[in-house]
Amino acid sequence: MGSLKSVLSIAASLLLACQGEQAPPRPFDGAQAFSYVESQLAFGPRIPGTPEHQAAGHWLDSLMRQRADAVVLQDWLHVSREGDSLPMRNVLGRFNLDAPTRILFLAHWDTRPKADGPKSSDPNAPVPGANDGGSGVAVLLGIADALRALPPSTGVDLLLVDGEDYGIFAEKDDVLIGSKYFADHPPDGPTPRYAILFDLVGDLNQRFPKEGNSLIGAPDVVKEVWDAARQIGYGHVFVNATGQAIIDDHVPLQQAGIPAINIIDFDYQYWHTPEDTIDKISAASLQAVGEVALEMVRLEERRN
Ligand SMILES: [Zn+2]
Repeated sequence: MGSLKSVLSIAASLLLACQGEQAPPRPFDGAQAFSYVESQLAFGPRIPGTPEHQAAGHWLDSLMRQRADAVVLQDWLHVSREGDSLPMRNVLGRFNLDAPTRILFLAHWDTRPKADGPKSSDPNAPVPGANDGGSGVAVLLGIADALRALPPSTGVDLLLVDGEDYGIFAEKDDVLIGSKYFADHPPDGPTPRYAILFDLVGDLNQRFPKEGNSLIGAPDVVKEVWDAARQIGYGHVFVNATGQAIIDDHVPLQQAGIPAINIIDFDYQYWHTPEDTIDKISAASLQAVGEVALEMVRLEERRN
């Protein structure tokens, strides 16, 4: 009887797994994600127009090609306010191209040319970009690993955008370059049901209030994500508080009709400083964000 009972219980759990009821989220490897930050920093600052930027762009393309079902490269020249022609590259890794519905995760991969933040020790130094650029890319690459290991039954797009941080935000020039380009040049297929931007997600004292422009432009998506985070035990990180409204890559997507939100910890004292280095971030922080992202994939699979 005991063995029959266990066979039945295994059958029942398999059935539940097929229905998606009890399917666990894919595992996320925070240590591996941390190594992706180290790899990015090894290129040096990823400033548009530099050989380091170009090399990092090739590397991201090759990594995504090893993981995604298809990669769309968007390469173009952006002429800056100063008159420089900057080679730009967005890398879009696509999973499950035939799915009728899709979700989109994005992060910027460029780094800021000058460390002109309010707490900077040297406004002419470049920003290394461990957290600002590096952390979001690392989470997306970790998601790509997880989706390659267990392909999603829903459509998932991972977008690495260029040129977020090149210019002056107050003047709206030469910033959010890649997300604006993507909004103007959407890929084939259905518009994503929602988009989640990951920016400044890896710092040691991680805390995500609900970003202001996300609450204005896509409050339902904010609720879905913060509810999911609480469900899997990260309510102390994804806190029930309202944060600043931040001009970031989610805004051009919202303007293009995609409900887009920003997961961002803007309370980061090394923001736009030369001290935005690897010792300011942790694998555990990347782990938390990666798990929430993969929980969103799991919930999306259950909807379909
Ligand atoms: Zn920045």
